[in-house]
Amino acid sequence: MKLLEGIPDPEVPVLNIIDLGIVRDVRVYPTPEVESNFVFHTDRNGLGVTVIITPTYVGCPAVDMIKATIQMTLTSAGYYPVEVRTTLFPAWTTEWLSEEARGKLEAFGIAPPNPVSSVCHLEPFQREEAVSCPRCRSCHTEMISPFGSTACKAMYRCLDCQEPFDYFKCH
Ligand SMILES: [Zn+2]
Repeated sequence: MKLLEGIPDPEVPVLNIIDLGIVRDVRVYPTPEVESNFVFHTDRNGLGVTVIITPTYVGCPAVDMIKATIQMTLTSAGYYPVEVRTTLFPAWTTEWLSEEARGKLEAFGIAPPNPVSSVCHLEPFQREEAVSCPRCRSCHTEMISPFGSTACKAMYRCLDCQEPFDYFKCH
């Protein structure tokens, strides 16, 4: 888990994949008989690991990169073999973001997802969804575009301080 905490989300690099809540399970098991061509001599030799992740949404383009980074990180730490499996059930929701993740998003200038998921479940971009400005905390904000720099974010503008900002959409 410590090693996984060092892996940033490629789309929101201020968050690591543990903050994001996409790591469902990590299983470490002894593999005395397995021989690897790339042996990194660490105290983890003889241990294999399986990591189960749930993508934030189906078709998220960052998933392949996350899987490759997990492979590389754990292999170079001495684990072999390293297997990364994805499971789509139960589906990831923004409620799986840790409290720490919400704070990091806000500090980075991205409004964290509205915790009232029932409000934004069916129609993600409803006007009445109270998105507060990460700069001045005003809820007097409007959506500029349903998509921001990545598909998981929307662009908003604060009507009080005029700051444009990204909103990490609920889903
Ligand atoms: Zn503001």
